[in-house]
Amino acid sequence: MGMRAVLTRILGIATVACALVATPAVASAETQVMPDGVNAEVLSLKQDGTKPVQITEPGSYVLKTAKGEVTPTSGYTIDAPDATRINPVRIYIDGTVYVNSYTNSSVGQNRWLFNIKQGSNIEFIGVNNPIISFHDERGGSQSVSGFLTDRYYDGGYKNASGDISVSLGIGDDSQDLTLWYSSSMEQKVPAISLGNTKGNLSANFSKLMIKDYAGKSGAVAGNAQEYAVPVHLFREGRNTTGGNINPFTATFTDCEFYDTSGDFNGAVSVDGNSSFKMPKDGSAVAKLTATFNNCSFSGHNGENAGVRQTNRSYNSVEASRYFANSSILNTYAVSGVMGVTNATVNLNSCEMSNFHSTRSSSADSTLTVDALNVARSARCNINGGTIERYGARGNTCVVYAAGTLTLNGSPEIASYWKNSHAGDTNYGDKYTEADKATGTAKSLYVPKKKSVDANVPALNIASDFSVRGGYGDNVWISIEETADSNGVKSRVLGTCESNKIEGVVPDGSSENDDNSDKYEVVNLNGDLTFRETIHQHKWKVEADGLGVRASCVGPFRNGECEYGMGEDGKPKKYLTATYKLSMSKATSSQSTELVYDGCPVKIALNKDGAWNLEQMGVTASDEFTWYQCKSQADAEAYKNGTKLKGAPTDAGYYYVVTSFKTASGQTLEGKKSFEISQRRLVKNQSYKFILKDGGKGAGKYAYDGKEHQPVVESAQFKNGAGEWVDLVEGKDYELSARSESGLKQTEPGQYECIVIGKGNFTTDGGTTSVLTLKWEIVDVARFDLEVTGFEGAYDGEKHGITVNVKNDPVPADMKIEYREDGGDWTTDKPTYRNAAEYTTCCRVTASGYLTAKGSATVKISKAGQDAPADLVGNNWTTCNSKDGSISGVTKKMEYRHEFSKKYQKITSSDKLTGLAKSGTYYVRYAEDNNHNASADAEVKIEPGSHAVADNAVWKPNGEGSHVKLCKYCKKEQERQPCRWKYEIVTPATPEADGVRQKVCRVCGGKWDEERYTYVDTYAPHHL
Ligand SMILES: [Zn+2]
Ligand SMILES: [Zn+2]
Ligand SMILES: [Zn+2]
Repeated sequence: MGMRAVLTRILGIATVACALVATPAVASAETQVMPDGVNAEVLSLKQDGTKPVQITEPGSYVLKTAKGEVTPTSGYTIDAPDATRINPVRIYIDGTVYVNSYTNSSVGQNRWLFNIKQGSNIEFIGVNNPIISFHDERGGSQSVSGFLTDRYYDGGYKNASGDISVSLGIGDDSQDLTLWYSSSMEQKVPAISLGNTKGNLSANFSKLMIKDYAGKSGAVAGNAQEYAVPVHLFREGRNTTGGNINPFTATFTDCEFYDTSGDFNGAVSVDGNSSFKMPKDGSAVAKLTATFNNCSFSGHNGENAGVRQTNRSYNSVEASRYFANSSILNTYAVSGVMGVTNATVNLNSCEMSNFHSTRSSSADSTLTVDALNVARSARCNINGGTIERYGARGNTCVVYAAGTLTLNGSPEIASYWKNSHAGDTNYGDKYTEADKATGTAKSLYVPKKKSVDANVPALNIASDFSVRGGYGDNVWISIEETADSNGVKSRVLGTCESNKIEGVVPDGSSENDDNSDKYEVVNLNGDLTFRETIHQHKWKVEADGLGVRASCVGPFRNGECEYGMGEDGKPKKYLTATYKLSMSKATSSQSTELVYDGCPVKIALNKDGAWNLEQMGVTASDEFTWYQCKSQADAEAYKNGTKLKGAPTDAGYYYVVTSFKTASGQTLEGKKSFEISQRRLVKNQSYKFILKDGGKGAGKYAYDGKEHQPVVESAQFKNGAGEWVDLVEGKDYELSARSESGLKQTEPGQYECIVIGKGNFTTDGGTTSVLTLKWEIVDVARFDLEVTGFEGAYDGEKHGITVNVKNDPVPADMKIEYREDGGDWTTDKPTYRNAAEYTTCCRVTASGYLTAKGSATVKISKAGQDAPADLVGNNWTTCNSKDGSISGVTKKMEYRHEFSKKYQKITSSDKLTGLAKSGTYYVRYAEDNNHNASADAEVKIEPGSHAVADNAVWKPNGEGSHVKLCKYCKKEQERQPCRWKYEIVTPATPEADGVRQKVCRVCGGKWDEERYTYVDTYAPHHL
């Protein structure tokens, strides 16, 4: 029957034409323009007998009750298969609608205001402060009825048909659409019950408020098909049908449950009903999803107020619906607010507060769940929001997670006050002494797994999970643990993407009030693990030299921590991360830590340092600044340092600075002064000294009478990197004699010298292991040598020295060599013929023999020679020819006149001519290179005879004689007295004397003129 027909037939209401929206379904029906402009048909409040009012056509309807009016006792059935998104079934709830309080004897048929049999796009829109009131205006008459269900009750249990989608919201600026019950009337069915359709089902509710709903199905147990809860979302099927496997999604946005209570849950039951052949792989869980966005579950703060589970016959975490041993019917998750069974629930930014479990008045050990119960095989994702309770009593928990609970967005799950104050009996549910004996209230309780859900994690924490309560209270989680083979009680709860779990203190033994040291929840490599407490280090870090050290101030059994505090309040031990400086191992006799090793000083964290740093949360900068100082005092005071480019190598005083950053951002400075001391240059495998080959091997010299000393061919040091590097004489070392005799030696023998370290090396500190080098002058055989010269007169023969090696036998490789002055050694012996003195050096060598040397002189004197013989003196031809000569001479001769002291060379052969002087000549062989001058041979040279020419005339000699002269030399040869006569020159006159002159009559010689007196001529007189 169509809606129009029903209304027309039953009510006969005149139709009010509406101009705005065509609502042609019932042309004659009363209509009303809604605030959103829709022209809605007013739903009839009258029914035909016990039959519900039928809504069969898509279209807009409005439900309202005027003063004194109530809804039909059998409510409304929506059976509108033609409803579409464009043409939905739209039902306005206009103002306060009073629900009929009549209790039909056939309660199963008429206890919902709206029954959906078929129809998608069914919209409930509240306007004008809409309230579905389950009591009359005066509050005296109260209805036992649900508001909405998809079960169609018509003579018994029936499935709804096809896909159903239903929504509820507000059409104007009203605050919400309230289902307002009377808390004094126990409801037998849910206010909203959805989930029976055969097809897909979706529900989308916003701004729905359910208030004062008090559900308790006990009155109809065994008869009714529902239990009483404000909202029941479920999937149902029978063993014979396999159930409905189509998805059901329900969304509640900005909805509020206030002072509601119910059979199993105080507000919502999400019931996947897994016993009905639902797949066990989790897909069934995904088929029923209920999402609550920004919803609130709360109430008055007081005993028996707020949201609570009221049917105390179901006082454990799970309850069989009707028959505890039923093989058909599932158990249900029992809790104060919401139970989730074989379904998925998302709680986004929801708030649960002022809720209560159904704890019986008498304390027992049975655990009850105050707010949220996620049953095995169910999933609940809590994203943000708050689930908190103050003053819970006894053995309760706020959230029970047997299925998978995933926490994200830092939700707060807390049970305050009574958690840690078991003795508080004054607040909330009045914690009794008996409660104290049965356990404390927990925030979260994770039970043991059962074998069937061994693979289902219980708890996932996908975000920071901080549940620290007010007043510094921790929030306790109680987890049933299993013991491993070592007896350590632990439980992997699920995955935890966050590393941060704060304020969560696992509940441990109820006997021990100080449970904080018993159990803990930790994030181990992403696994959230509940276990017996293991001490957690918390490091107090401080600078310590070139490093940091940390003591543990961490919780849980700090006194048992080796880094924790001892009884004296001081750390028993420090966790250290210290940079250690190192060089290769020093000699054992050197106590200094760092000894030059030819490589830069190495720096590294101490053993486990890196790990320790990681534990401490400290970051090392890994940057080091090195300084060199001139004195140890400066280095130790960290001052006057010269900054180095890198780690130092050479011996000296230094300090190094680095920094650490703690987890809290504090920077700690690490520094250390140190000394690199000289390395002892001693005898060990780090040094390799090789002496030069002295001809007989390294450091060995053949005795040669000369001074020798060891000379280093190569000196190497194996540095810290294991490389052999050259040592430099004078810089790194020097050689020193072992004894006073010095480094230089001449005599054959074995000697030692000492290598003295210099610069980066030292020999100080002891002599026992000083590095010595052995060297040797090797003795050799000697030659018995006699060297003789030669002395003799020139004889035309060659002469040389004589070297006589007397050794017998002489060595086979003996070699005799000679050397003239300025010459080279040669095996050709020099010989000499000419007179002179020659010195020849000689040496004799042979392997293994001391080279012998000698010298001798060849002295050749000049030979004598005989005086020349057979010389013939040739006189002058005349007395005055001066042409003397000597025959028989040679050019080898020389001569002198008897009056000359100097010999003159004879340059001509055979005849020496031109001897102008007469007399005796001495002629000898002249001295030459090889001869002395000979004795003289005397040769006389006489002048020739005078001769007077035949016609020679007498010539006066002026002395009264006249002479005849030699025709050659003009010398007088004959003399006669002149025979003179006077010759008158001037005749004397009587008057005057004349002049007369004697004149030789022979020679005509004249005397001087003489005066004479006149004398008669005749008177001659003669003289
Ligand atoms: Zn510790
Ligand atoms: Zn003469
Ligand atoms: Zn004369």
